[in-house]
Amino acid sequence: TPPSRSIDVSLDVELRNVTKVYHGESAVRSIDLGIRRGEFFSILGPSGCGKTTTLRMIAGFEHPTSGEILIRDRSMSNVPPYKRPANTVFQSYALFGHMTVAENIAFGLKIQKCSRSEVQDRVRDALKLVKLEALANRFPAQLSGGQQQRVAVARALVNRPAVLLLDEPLGALDLKLRKEMQVELATLHRELGMTFVMVTHDQEEALSLSDRIAVMNLGKVEQVGTPEQIYDRPRTSFVADFIGDTNLFRGKIEGAHPETLWIRTETGIKMTVQQDTASKSLTSGWVTVSVRPEKIQISLAPQAAANCFEGRLQDVMYLGTHVYCVIALNSGDRVIVRQPKSPKLPNADAPLYVSWDAADSLALSEL
Ligand code: ATP
Repeated sequence: TPPSRSIDVSLDVELRNVTKVYHGESAVRSIDLGIRRGEFFSILGPSGCGKTTTLRMIAGFEHPTSGEILIRDRSMSNVPPYKRPANTVFQSYALFGHMTVAENIAFGLKIQKCSRSEVQDRVRDALKLVKLEALANRFPAQLSGGQQQRVAVARALVNRPAVLLLDEPLGALDLKLRKEMQVELATLHRELGMTFVMVTHDQEEALSLSDRIAVMNLGKVEQVGTPEQIYDRPRTSFVADFIGDTNLFRGKIEGAHPETLWIRTETGIKMTVQQDTASKSLTSGWVTVSVRPEKIQISLAPQAAANCFEGRLQDVMYLGTHVYCVIALNSGDRVIVRQPKSPKLPNADAPLYVSWDAADSLALSEL
């Protein structure tokens, strides 16, 4: 287990009611975010949700149409990118092909007219941080994708920014290298104790690296929370669906109790769901019920659980460490159930039952 880090509660980056409109269309809609000093914060969402625009506004490459951005309590409204205490690692790395690794890292410092000895010292420190001392005199074309990525990080770190902004930093790498670089990014973050803000569309990457995550959809922030909160207590059906796999059922509340909800789905089955005591209790209207595949049991006989439905096995998907069983319920719903690798299952025409407890499902109101 990594050594625990204490996270300062003071904010390094603050977005206050920030909106960005391009040609009459809002890419980012009234978002508020507070990113704490020293935390690894991810902005996660599908393509086009506005995450890159948000990061570019923090960096200063784009200006909010309205609202305000502060870094270390200072308004950035009139501060150009190169004067902000934030540096960006771009997905494409944007390295200069005709310059060596050391020259690439030194470039920004030379522009700022740092003395020769200071440039040397800082470049050496940055190379050491990303473990590239031995490759200082190579050209980018002579480096692997992962090494190029480290040069890009070193170039952003050489200015000693308060905040490191990472725009899909691992997006160009293949899966294996991506996993390796995730570990390196986590280590780097721990060693530097700096605030990292990373944009990614990869939920696994966000869950494994982040202290907190903002999930964006259609220009809005749907939820901000720790990986556990986002996974276990999604606040909207979008978040439940986007993070991990889940089964969603739309339905109407037929009865409500402070602890329990009774819901009839569109397909006509009755579900019992425990109220989420952390949020305000629901009493009526349409909701989406979310049940994770690992919370559902399969049996050959009906069970006494709060939720038990009859169906038939439709398909089995092998996923390496486990399988997903696709069950067609008599109601017409399809349910995905996680099972160990060699599950004991009836054949396709025999009836079976899926069941789960009220506490193992969530009712999500529509935003
Ligand atoms: P991706 O993962 O595909 O990069 P994203 O979540 O980062 O997506 P953004 O790049 O922030 O999304 O774009 C959000 C919306 O704003 C999109 O609909 C996009 O087409 C639009 N947009 C972004 N930049 C511009 C621009 N310079 N001019 C016009 N529209 C833009």
